[in-house]
Amino acid sequence: LSRRIAAPMHHDELGRLAATFNEMLVSINTAHQTQQRFVADASHELRAPLTAIQGNIELLRRKPEMPDIDRAEALIELEREAARLSRLVADLLILARADAGIALKHCPLDLDLLVLDAFRETRYLAHGQTLQLAPFEPVQIEGDEDRLKQLLLILLDNALKYTPVGDQVTLGLCRHGCEVDMLVRDTGIGIEPEVLPHVFERFYRADPARSRDPGGTGLGLSIAQWIVEQHAGKIWLESQPRQGTLVTVRLPLRDHSSH
Ligand code: ADP
Repeated sequence: LSRRIAAPMHHDELGRLAATFNEMLVSINTAHQTQQRFVADASHELRAPLTAIQGNIELLRRKPEMPDIDRAEALIELEREAARLSRLVADLLILARADAGIALKHCPLDLDLLVLDAFRETRYLAHGQTLQLAPFEPVQIEGDEDRLKQLLLILLDNALKYTPVGDQVTLGLCRHGCEVDMLVRDTGIGIEPEVLPHVFERFYRADPARSRDPGGTGLGLSIAQWIVEQHAGKIWLESQPRQGTLVTVRLPLRDHSSH
C-alpha cells in the first residue's frame, strides 16, 4: 500500500493520472491504518474481561473449599465481566455494520412518542437521580425508530452514569424552523475542556475512575454519532466540569429531510 508512482515532472494527462493515483493511495492507507487500530483496540478491550473470567474460573476450580463469601465475590465478578463482554461484542457489531456501510431504515415516525418511550424505559435505570421530561409538542421526522431509540438510550444512560445521586437529568424536544433538537441535560460531573474534543472517538473514556459505573465501553458516543449522521443530523456536547453536560441532537423535520 505504501508504493507510490513516481510522478512525472510535467502536467500532462499521465502526470495528472499519477497524482490522482497517489492521492487515492494515501486515503486507502489512512483507512487501512484506522481499521487496523480499531481491530487492535477491540482485541485489547476484549482481552480484559476474558482474563478476569478465566482468572475467576481458575480460582473456583483450584479452591473448592474456599469460604462462601469469597465464592460469592468470584461469581459476582464473573457475572459482571460476562455482562461487559456481551456489551462490548454488541457495540462492536454495530460499529462493524456501520463501517460496512449498511443503510438504516427511512420511515416516517413520531419523534415525541419515541422520546416518551425512551423516557419510560430509562426511569428504571435512575438510582436516586431525578429524571424529568420537559413538555413538548408532536414532531414528525423520517428515520429508523430502533436506532433512534438506541441513540436516546445511550445519551440517557451516559447522563445517569455521570450524574450523582440527588442531581437531575432532563430530556427535552425543541422544534424550530425546519429542524428539531433532542436535548439531554444533566447536572452531573461534567467534562473537562481538554477531554471534550475526544468523546466521540472509539474506545475513548475520560478517567474511568471518575464515573460511578466503570462498565462503559467507550463506544456509546461513537455509535450515537453514526446514528445521527445517518439521519442527516448533528450532535454536540456542551459541558462545564462539576456543573453538568448538555447533549444536543439536531435532526431535520419530516418534509425537510434531505435523504
Ligand atoms: P462510555 O461507555 O465510557 O460512557 P461514551 O462513548 O458513551 O463511552 O462516552 C465517552 C466519554 O465521554 C465517557 O467515558 C465520559 O468520560 C464522557 N461522557 C459522556 N457523556 C457524559 C456526560 N453526560 N457527563 C460526563 N461525561 C460524559
